[in-house]
Amino acid sequence: MSPRPNPSVLEIAPYIPGRAKSGAAGKQHKLSSNENPLGPSVAAKEAFAAAAETLERYPDGSATILRDTIAATYGLHADRIICGNGSDEILAMIANAYLSAGDEAVFTEHAFLVYRIVTLAAGATPVIVPETNLSADVDALLAAMTPRTKVVFLANPNNPTGSYTPHQDVKRLREGMPEGALLVLDAAYAEYVRRNDYDAGIELVATRDDTIMTRTFSKIHGLAALRLGWAYGPPGVIDALHRVRGPFNVNAAALAAGTAAMRDREHVERAVEHNNGWLPRLRDEITALGFGVPPSVGNFVLIDFAPVPGADAGDADAFLGERGIILRRVSAYGLPQMLRMTVGDDEANLATIAALKDYRDGLNA
Ligand SMILES: *Cc1c(COP(=O)(O)O)cnc(C)c1O
Repeated sequence: MSPRPNPSVLEIAPYIPGRAKSGAAGKQHKLSSNENPLGPSVAAKEAFAAAAETLERYPDGSATILRDTIAATYGLHADRIICGNGSDEILAMIANAYLSAGDEAVFTEHAFLVYRIVTLAAGATPVIVPETNLSADVDALLAAMTPRTKVVFLANPNNPTGSYTPHQDVKRLREGMPEGALLVLDAAYAEYVRRNDYDAGIELVATRDDTIMTRTFSKIHGLAALRLGWAYGPPGVIDALHRVRGPFNVNAAALAAGTAAMRDREHVERAVEHNNGWLPRLRDEITALGFGVPPSVGNFVLIDFAPVPGADAGDADAFLGERGIILRRVSAYGLPQMLRMTVGDDEANLATIAALKDYRDGLNA
């Protein structure tokens, strides 16, 4: 008889990443995983290459230089920072340390899929809360809290909706949560957001002992291949996460490249400018075609096919794929008539707009 995993493990639907290739010949525009179209900083690539000279050595298991660099960049205490093999690993560490059978983890309807996976993997129960206008609804979240609520995951901004929760609302959520429950603010796209009423979570983490913020090098820093994330949390939580993490969970190439990337503020600024120049333009041009585009502050937009008679997200995905344009289906996020488009380089964005127009024009032909 084959060994049986823990019961909740079999409830996990394996994560299906964005496609890397379509069937089309010729140039491909991969806009399916929110990667940085500018790539990483040149300095990060050089640091990565230099790491090849010392591959026989174990990495620094405490990630000291990287944590010091992050701390200096954001004005934080380095001993309250922990690094992970992608922020996904930090989310898993949080679930392992804070959730067990009978506990509940609360998150929203269209939240990042990893929350469900790490919750079930820890044997706990996901509690899924409806959103309002594709945004987290703080009142609905608070209404879902029970004495069993141990963790609340909030992506801010959220992927794939692109919406964000203003600082005052995050504070209200935190203040209404049960005492002793951990609030996880997943700020994977924080660097792109330039809004006066947005805070990635640094203030809450700095002033409380029950809130943690996670960040990633996969998006704005363009280092998704290396798997690197970090979190800023209260001493008690950081201590617990250190106990459950692998002793050398971040590899040496990621430490070196991440440190160089964090220091290259100009590259970050260029990526923000490119992205935030394109966001309104994509929204205007795709809306002008008749499709819906909910507001987004991330490096991606949702395209809603429902408003156009005869249009279908699956058909559109196939049509675009034939032209080498790879978007992301978001049915698994409860959005079957939408596709998510990462803000690409100029050529990719223009090709996508042109292809969406041709798809729409072909509907009545
Ligand atoms: C991309 C993304 C992450 C980052 O994951 P990594 O493991 O750091 O690559 C985390 N949260 C959300 C909401 C994301 O979209």
